Amino acid sequence: MSERPLPVPDAATAPYWDAAREHRLVMPKCADCGAFHFYPRTLCPSCSLSRIEWTACSGRAEVHSFTIVYRAPGPAFAAEVPYVVATVKLHEGPHLMTRIRGCAPEAVRIGMAVRVAFDEASAEITLPVFEPAGEV
Ligand SMILES: [Zn+2]
Repeated sequence: MSERPLPVPDAATAPYWDAAREHRLVMPKCADCGAFHFYPRTLCPSCSLSRIEWTACSGRAEVHSFTIVYRAPGPAFAAEVPYVVATVKLHEGPHLMTRIRGCAPEAVRIGMAVRVAFDEASAEITLPVFEPAGEV
């Protein structure tokens, strides 16, 4: 069985992965205009200024779009199918590509309330994933 490929943090993304390892979800937020954005960038996409602060997020989100993966894209994922790959819209605004776990793949719906959870994929990398939040 091949090893599951994992993200490789760099200077721009290290704060995100450091926080995830501590089971915290953080997003880049512009200190000038207050807008959150994701993926991480050195300039704010709203105002083009560069005072970016990593800011804790609530972990609340809703499913924006999703697909169910039935055929593994490679041997490393064979034991995991079927699984849900989704784009979720965080309460704070940014969209994030992730997985939905904690329910049957067929139970996932667009607009479903979800909350962050953490998948400790290796000693270095913890992946933010999302689970149904129930009736909130
Ligand atoms: Zn800005």
